[in-house]
Amino acid sequence: MRLRHIPGAEEEIAASPFVIQEPEKNRGRWNEVFGNNNPIEIEVGMGKGKFIMELAAAHPEINYIGIERYSSVLLRGLQKRAEIDLPNIYFMRVDAKDLADIFEKGEVSRIYLNFSDPWPKDRHAKRRLTSVNFMEVYDKVLKPDGVVEFKTDNRGLFEFSLGSIQEAGWKIKYHTFDLHHSEYAEGNVMTEYEMKFSSKGNSICKLVAFR
Ligand code: SAM
Repeated sequence: MRLRHIPGAEEEIAASPFVIQEPEKNRGRWNEVFGNNNPIEIEVGMGKGKFIMELAAAHPEINYIGIERYSSVLLRGLQKRAEIDLPNIYFMRVDAKDLADIFEKGEVSRIYLNFSDPWPKDRHAKRRLTSVNFMEVYDKVLKPDGVVEFKTDNRGLFEFSLGSIQEAGWKIKYHTFDLHHSEYAEGNVMTEYEMKFSSKGNSICKLVAFR
């Protein structure tokens, strides 16, 4: 998702109490940011943030951080964030490749990747958020028993990911090519893209990976 540049977006993000500015300064002390020792879960590429805001409302015992690399997209999330009153969620405007500068090893309990950009050309495969190089970044920040959860309707990206994740040395805890009609459907929180694509009849694929 890349929206048209919105004038003033950078300034609004810089002034927002819901956005962590200079997040690398909190490396190793994220529990102080939230004021508790609850687990921290992050969504990489949160888009407008529907999924992670719903999770935060449902799970006050977990801290959430939504990560988005484009200001114009994050701004949409902030507009919704202002309508809810939750102490356990922040956003950051950063690129996933920099996560290890932001979190210490073991600071993150779970990483959600939802409907990540497919980058269909072979020469762009390294940009896919489930490629070996990104799995190496997640390895640097996740707890030993932490997991990566990935959902997409893009069968090609999903099959690539089943391979690349194992190539990176991770294991697949489970996977399904039709989440909504599977035993894993219960408790599923839909993302914006998931609502859009499942309403068109597309099956939703999901995997959970661990080391
Ligand atoms: N997760 C949302 C959903 O399921 O509705 C949004 C999906 S959208 C297709 C993917 C989002 O990931 C885009 O907003 C994009 O800007 C963001 N993104 C892609 N690569 C990223 C990266 N390296 N770091 C942070 N965000 C990224």
